[in-house]
Formats: sequence, C-alpha cells, structure tokens
Amino acid sequence: MSSEPSTLDPRDWESFRKLAHRMVDDMLDFLAALDAQPVWQPVPSDSRRALDEPVPYEAQGEERAYADFLAHVLPYSNGNRHPRFFGWAQGNGTPLGMMSDMLAAAMNPHLAGFAQAPAIVEAKVIAWFVELMGFPQEASGVFALGGTMANVLALAAARQAMCGFELRTRGLYDAPSRYLVYGSGETHSWLKKALELLGMGSASWRLSRADLAAQIAEDRALGLAPMCIVGNAGTINTGDFDDLEMLADVAEKERVWFHVDGALGGLAMLSDRLRPRMKGVERADSFAFDLHKWMYQPFDVACVLVRARGALEAAFASSASYIAAMERGVIAGGLPFADRGVDLTRGFRALKVWMAMKAHGVRGIARAIEANVRQAQMLAARIDREPELERVAPVPLNIVCFRFKGSDALNQELLLRIQESGVAVPSSTIIDGRFALRCAFVNHRTKDEDIDRVIDAVLTIGRELA
Ligand SMILES: *Cc1c(COP(=O)(O)O)cnc(C)c1O
Repeated sequence: MSSEPSTLDPRDWESFRKLAHRMVDDMLDFLAALDAQPVWQPVPSDSRRALDEPVPYEAQGEERAYADFLAHVLPYSNGNRHPRFFGWAQGNGTPLGMMSDMLAAAMNPHLAGFAQAPAIVEAKVIAWFVELMGFPQEASGVFALGGTMANVLALAAARQAMCGFELRTRGLYDAPSRYLVYGSGETHSWLKKALELLGMGSASWRLSRADLAAQIAEDRALGLAPMCIVGNAGTINTGDFDDLEMLADVAEKERVWFHVDGALGGLAMLSDRLRPRMKGVERADSFAFDLHKWMYQPFDVACVLVRARGALEAAFASSASYIAAMERGVIAGGLPFADRGVDLTRGFRALKVWMAMKAHGVRGIARAIEANVRQAQMLAARIDREPELERVAPVPLNIVCFRFKGSDALNQELLLRIQESGVAVPSSTIIDGRFALRCAFVNHRTKDEDIDRVIDAVLTIGRELA
C-alpha cells in the first residue's frame, strides 16, 4: 500500500501558487469595487443550505473550498467593510492590513514572548503608543484581542494593585470588604462583564455622581473599598467624553486607580487637532483602545497601556517548569507578553499595526480620523437643515444620533428598511427613552457624498412610512 504524504503543504506548489495569486487578485477586486455592492444582504436560502454541510471527512481540495467561500461566504457578512456602513463601531480593515495578516500567518510566530524580531516589533509598537498617548516612558502594555479584553486586563491590574491582601492565592473570598468601581451609566457593557468575570459581581459598579469625591468618602464611611474610577474617552452611544481631568484629580486625591476606556475614541490622540479634547488621558493608570475600530485595522486587535511598570505582570505573570526562561536559546528573555495577560499562545497581531503605522504614517491615520469627525459634523448639519429630522444628541466626536420625526415604531421600521435596502447600515440606540438611529464614523472609506445618500434614503423611506 502506498502511503500518501501526510503534510498539509500543497502537493503541487505551482498549482497552489496559482490559486493563491487568484485569491489575492479576487480579494483586491472585491475591495476595490465595494461601492457598487450593497452594504448588506441577508444570506440567501441556497447559500444557507450549501453551508449546512456534514463533517467533511474526505478531502474536497483547496479549489473547491475556495469556490464555496466565494459563492456562499464572501458576499454575506454584516457589511462593515463598506463605505456606507455606520453601525455600532466596527472598523473596515484595509488591503494592507489584509496582506499583513497573511504575512503574520505565513511567519506564524508565537508571541507569548520569545525575544526575536516579532517580539521586538510588538514591544516597539507598544513603545510608540506609550509616546503617542502621552504616557511616561516606563509605562508598558500589551496587545489584546479587542477593547473588551484590553479593558479586562486593565481592571485586573487595578484590582491587583488596589487589593491589599493575597488576591492571587486567596481570591476575593477573604476580601476585607467589597471593592467598588465607579463609572457613568454611559460606560460600555464591557465593565459589567469584566466585574462578573473578575468575581467582583456587577453590583460592584457604582454609577458615579458629579460629586465623585464625596461619593467615595461616603462609601468608605460605609466600610466599602473604592478601587477604580473608569472614565470614557468616547462613549459608545454618543461619542461623548467624561471630564477626564476631574476624574484624574479625584483618583489621585482619593488614591484609587484611574482607568480610561478609549476603545471607541482613544485614537483621537493621534490627531493634533483632536488631542486637546482628550486632556486627562495621559494621567490614567491604564488606558485601553481598539485598533480595529478607529485605526481601521482588520479584526481583532486592541492595546492596553499601564502606567506603572510591572502592574500587568503583578496580576498575570506565572511560572511553570515547561516555560521557564533560560539564559540563551529560543526562550531567552522569557515570555513577557504572556506575563501581561491571560493568553499564552498569541499571534502576531502587532504586525499589521506596525505595517500600517510605517506605511501610512501616524499623520496619514490621523487624517482619516479627522475626516471622520468632519463627516459626523456634516451629517449633523444636514440633519439640522431637514425639517423632517431631529438630532437627539450633541456630536462631540464621531457619532450622530437622530430620528425621523414620528413614533419609535416608525423609526424602528425605517432602520430595518434602510438596512434591508442595502444603501446604508446605521444602527440604533435609545436616547432619553426614545429610539434613535445612530451613525458612527470609524470608516476610512466613507466619502462626503455618502452622507447625502444616507440622508436621502432616510427621507425617502421615512416619508413612505409617515
Ligand atoms: C467597542 C467598545 C468596547 C468593546 O471593545 P471590543 O473591541 O468590541 O471588545 C468597549 N468600550 C467602548 C466604548 C467601545 O466602543
């Protein structure tokens, strides 16, 4: 019996090379022609059926797998790659980011650490962000999957730093009192998840009052333990900012950890024009920001910076005989990134960020960010000019919330019809108890004309419904 080679490398590199080139060409054609595509379309029933496949025990071949991807997967995503996608806060990705992910996958290094070139690149990009975000040179950080995980890592570092007992060995069971985290009602739902995950219970989230110092004093008098203040640099609903300077003052005076969630708006720090609005970020003990939102990188990549060197390691570093550092050889230098977070095996997501910063320059990225802020203002101005529309929140950054004058039911139907039309994808939220359409600008493909197209569609559909 002849044994076939068991490697998963191509049998025939030349024919695989042809397929690979076709994949690259197809994806570039796809990205170059997005404007002509609907933003979103539901998965048709024949594709649903095709994807409902039994476990493929036998080889179908690369060509067949790719053909099925082209026919049934590629056209039917949530649409965030498109110039007129404004829903939630989802970046587009870039062609360079796509290719960088390919390069990272080809190299496939293990980024727990291993002080070779990929680790040097990750450490360097973190150092660049330390500088760009106004943190002191000794600050450190780590790349994470997304804003949620970056925030979780920061909160775990805060908890470790603030809990004056053997948290890592005893857990919170022996905590002398309940630890409290203060954040506004506009804080993203990551905080609730994080508190539950960290075993603190989401009831540890105190909605912060304007007189935060007095509130903390009252909580202390009750025997509770204020631990962390969470500030928002760009809230998910409206892109609003907390008064970060005030929060930093209170945190400093009350000796609690100050964390800033910049998942949405943090990258505004790259712009000379927008940075002044972020005043106070540079005083945070920790700062989390997404790079797959407002730095437009393909999912998934975020970053967390921590001011006190060693604060992440205090929460996460672990030792085991099979990953012990050595003086020389492959594991020299240890596993610094695994020691700063939960994950051990980590991919080279820093590569696309490094490539983007070098290729576009921080200035090029900042220009795209500034264009988004300008487009949000344009949309707001157009809404304000249209008598049938009403804006329901100020536009401090890159998010616009508005309604067609009429009932909540009308606006809900309007939202679904505009999404189903394929012309544009806004999402929705509730502002002051009323349903509102919501457009977020974290999209480097949006052109100024797209804004008029969205509003024209809203008006046409709204009038039909009214
Ligand atoms: C998106 C977002 C998060 C969560 O980040 P993910 O990357 O989706 O995990 C947290 N906070 C804010 C303000 C966000 O906009």
